[in-house]
Amino acid sequence: MSADLTIAAIYADLLGTYGDNGNAATLLHRARLHGLSADVISIQPGDPVPSQADIYLLGGGEDTAQTAACSALRADGNIRTAAERGAAILAICAGYQLFGEYFPDSTGTRSPGLGLLDIRTDRLAQRAVGELAAAPVPAADSTEPPLFSERFTGYENHAGGTVRGPSVQPLGRVLAGVGNGDGTEGSVSGHIIGSYLHGPCLVRNPEIADQLLRWAVDRELPALEEQAVSELRAERFRTVLGH
Ligand code: GLN
Repeated sequence: MSADLTIAAIYADLLGTYGDNGNAATLLHRARLHGLSADVISIQPGDPVPSQADIYLLGGGEDTAQTAACSALRADGNIRTAAERGAAILAICAGYQLFGEYFPDSTGTRSPGLGLLDIRTDRLAQRAVGELAAAPVPAADSTEPPLFSERFTGYENHAGGTVRGPSVQPLGRVLAGVGNGDGTEGSVSGHIIGSYLHGPCLVRNPEIADQLLRWAVDRELPALEEQAVSELRAERFRTVLGH
């Protein structure tokens, strides 16, 4: 029998420098907590990207790996098909930047992205390295409940800063660290979440994992707290924000 969900972990060898592969393991774990069965398929460069997975995960990487991953994804074409049919996508750091209109390559020259998110990335004045914390922001449509209610925690390591176009909401408001570079962190557009949060992101922020699962199964899922994760989050916020 096939699983309730298929999770495609994209190019972990190119886009997995900062432990982002843990996002697939976390999603599998959270899916099980919610009583959902899930398969993770690991896609390496050269493998066809599935067009019909439910959730796609892309992580961070160095500039050259990012450019190579972007070219491979463009040549394959199926991540575009998936994004356009509304699949849930989490793209971290290099993965986030390459979803946009352009990002700096290893020489600092603008390199075309996939154009699936209305964002543009250029070099920051100074590399952003360290802990990153952000607060959730109100929903774009004030009649809708916000997607997230909990603060976000992670760490960042990137040279690029990202400007959002009008169709893209920030994931959060920066409380500590740099994020996009303009006081906001990450992007949300349709069912695509882009973020600078490593950690891995979903281990530290199970609310994001659950939102990806909700989009994938198209129904509500209850908030399920795990004590070890709550303790980790509390420790991080105490250390980074002092409260
Ligand atoms: N190469 C990109 C940058 O430095 C992304 C880095 C990352 O994925 N951590 O901005």
